[in-house]
Order: sequence, then C-alpha cells, then structure tokens
Amino acid sequence: MSGAIVGALACQRNSFLFDGFKATVVSCEKAAPLSKKSAKKTGDEGAGYDVELSDTILFPEGGGQPSDTGSLLVEGRDTPLVVSQVSRQGLRALHRVSSPVEVGTAVTLSVDKKRRFDFMQQHTGQHLLSALLEQKYSLDTLSWSMATPDGEVQEPSSLLNFIELPKRLTPAQVDEINNLANEYIMMNPQGIKVSESQPAELDETSKIPDDYDFGSGVVRTVHIGTLDANQCCGTHLASTAQIGSLVVFAAGQTTVRSTNSRLYFTCGTRVSRYASLASDVLAETKQTLSCSETQLAEGAGKLKAQLVQRTKGEQFWARLGATQDAERIAKKLSDDTWASLLRDEYCGQEYLNLVYKELAVALKERDDSKPYRAVLAGYDKAAGAAAVVVVADSGEGIEEAVGLVTAVIPQVRGGGGKKGGKWQGKATAVTAAQWTALCEAVKGRK
Ligand SMILES: [Zn+2]
Repeated sequence: MSGAIVGALACQRNSFLFDGFKATVVSCEKAAPLSKKSAKKTGDEGAGYDVELSDTILFPEGGGQPSDTGSLLVEGRDTPLVVSQVSRQGLRALHRVSSPVEVGTAVTLSVDKKRRFDFMQQHTGQHLLSALLEQKYSLDTLSWSMATPDGEVQEPSSLLNFIELPKRLTPAQVDEINNLANEYIMMNPQGIKVSESQPAELDETSKIPDDYDFGSGVVRTVHIGTLDANQCCGTHLASTAQIGSLVVFAAGQTTVRSTNSRLYFTCGTRVSRYASLASDVLAETKQTLSCSETQLAEGAGKLKAQLVQRTKGEQFWARLGATQDAERIAKKLSDDTWASLLRDEYCGQEYLNLVYKELAVALKERDDSKPYRAVLAGYDKAAGAAAVVVVADSGEGIEEAVGLVTAVIPQVRGGGGKKGGKWQGKATAVTAAQWTALCEAVKGRK
C-alpha cells in the first residue's frame, strides 16, 4: 500500500478539513534530527519518527507556505501524538512524531486549525496582491516570504510578509492596490478553485520543485475568479472574502539586490493584531514625547539633533575636565609618590582614559626618575560598577597600587602595566562600603 501523493493530498483537494480525518499508516521510519531552524520553530529537537499515511489533511511545506502542525491519534490510544512537522520527500508527505506507529494502524488526524487558517489568509492574500500588481502595473512578483511569528508576538513587524518586486511602489500606487484588494475582499469577492493536471500537459513548469516527480505527479493551478490562474501546491481559501482584510504598507519598503524592492503586507486576523501592537507602541511613545502621532517623527528628529549637540558639548567639557584633573595629579606627583582621582559621579572608563592620556604626556615631560603611583577610579552607585586605572613608573609600582585596590574590592578584574605604565580594570557588584574603603586606602597617601 502506498500513500496519497503530494499534489493530490486531501489537504490540497479540500483545505477546509481540519479534524476527524481517518487514515492508515503506510510506513514509519526512524528520522534524522530536525534541522536547527525547524527544531527552534517547533521546540522539538528529538529525532523522532517519520510516518507516511494513506492520505493526510496536514500540509507539508510548499508554495511559500510553512508545514502544518497537528496531532495523530492512534486507534485504541487515548493520547494523540503531536505532529511537529510535515515534510515532502519526492511525492511522499512525512509526519514527524515522537514515537513509532505500526504499519497498517488506523489513525485520526487533526490540524492546528488557527495556525493553518492564518497561513491560508496570508498565502491567498499574496496571490490576490500579486495578481493585482501584475494587472495594474505589470509588476512580476519575483519571490515572497510569509512571516511565521513564533510564540508571543511583541514586534508589530514580525507579522509582516513581503513580496519582492522589480521596483518600489509610490504611496499613490500602494493606496490604489489597498483599495482594489479590499474591494475584492468585501464588495466583489472572487471564488477560488483549484484544477489538477499532469505535468506533461503543461508548457510552463518553472514553479514546480526540481525534486518533484514529473512522471507521476499532479500539478495544481489556483484560479482566483477570472483575475488570476497560477500554479501552486499550497492550501487556499475558498473565496477572497475569507482573506478578511489586506494591508500593504507604503512606508518601510526596502531595496534588495540593487534595484528590487520588498513590499510589506499582512492579511486576515493579523491586521487587527498588527493594529493593536502598533497602537500600543504609538500610545507609549506619544506619552514619552508628549505629542500627537503626526508630531512623533519630528519630535524624535529634534531629540536626536539635540542629543548630537549635547554629546559634542559633553565631550568638550570632559576633555577640559580631564586636562585639569591630569594637571592636578601631575603637580602632586612632582612632590609626592602617590596621587589619586576618586569620583562617584559621571566618571566611567572613558573619562579615566582621557585623564590618563593627558597625565601620560605630563609624566613623559618630567626629567627626574622619581617613582610615582596614581589610582584613578570612578564609581556608579546605582549600577554598583567601578572603573579603575592605575598608573605607575614600574611594574612593582603597578603591583603595589593594584594591591591596594584588590584588598578592598577583591572582585576587580583587569590587566596591563607589567613594566609600568597603565593597568586598567573594572568591577561589578561594588558596595558603597567598598567604595568608601578604597577612598580611605588611597586618599591622603604621600
Ligand atoms: Zn498558493
């Protein structure tokens, strides 16, 4: 006994069979582990078993539509086996399950209906969109990709599919396509029919996968009313009305392969999910920037420009402060062996390095060979983080000064200055008491 072939599976002949479908196990083979990508998608890394059935309502991946998931209830058992993936191997559809099933066993199949219906809305929506783009603007769909959001969706953009076109659409063209598409969904719905033919009867077979058996296979052509006829093996809705809604976005078109453009769209129940997620983002941002939706872009632009200006100002004052700090330390080191810079506000690694740079120049200009040790440290109390730079004339000097630091902040990690010069380190989970201890250990040393 052999299974129904891909091209003429029950799910392809009637894409509205969702559960209670009876079939018989034709073969069951130990399977190789799922690809990393599939394992991530399905959360199933186990090797499992590939089961071929007399026929199936679970669609294997194809035509830009992902594989179905569902369940398989073996006759006589209470708990169904999860089908984590259905793959096509030549003309066979293989159902991935976690334990073996005996050949000849009767099983009952169910499809994850919500997931499949969402895929059919996106997929059929793409057919309609591509047909309209071709009719209105003679634009061929070069490829398309269906977004398959996993788990809880956070980003509105994770609900967007795209089609690749030879050029970018103007906002007016996008408007026109949106109006037309929704007219075919709401006012003038088109019935969708699928016809079957033998590959040998066809002139055009470029859309059929290379590993598909042309001799014994079946080719399916999807007809959207009189609008469009296209070879496709996927599962489709019965009418464009079931797409529910289709939105194409003028903004956010991206250029690929130099001249091509990706046009983003979403269909069906995803439209309201997208609107709801996008509305959350807008509401929060509006509150933060205290402005209306249409003022958001301008408001964010102004903030960005201000930030650039302020950053430049901050860098100017930091350089000035670092020069003064370095001068003070160099002056103290001309009299004493020890000097320090201990600051518990706005003093990170970047600032300490600026001070070090200036200090190194001043120390180089000295003509005596007097030993020196300088401890430069900054502390961020809220983050519990400390940055430390130790400067000394010799490796021993570095060791001595670093010893003072590690005695009070043992978690500090750093390196450098084996022959003198600069040692640089940082520490996390630094308590206020540790910082005070460091200040006491270093301050007042001569
Ligand atoms: Zn299709």
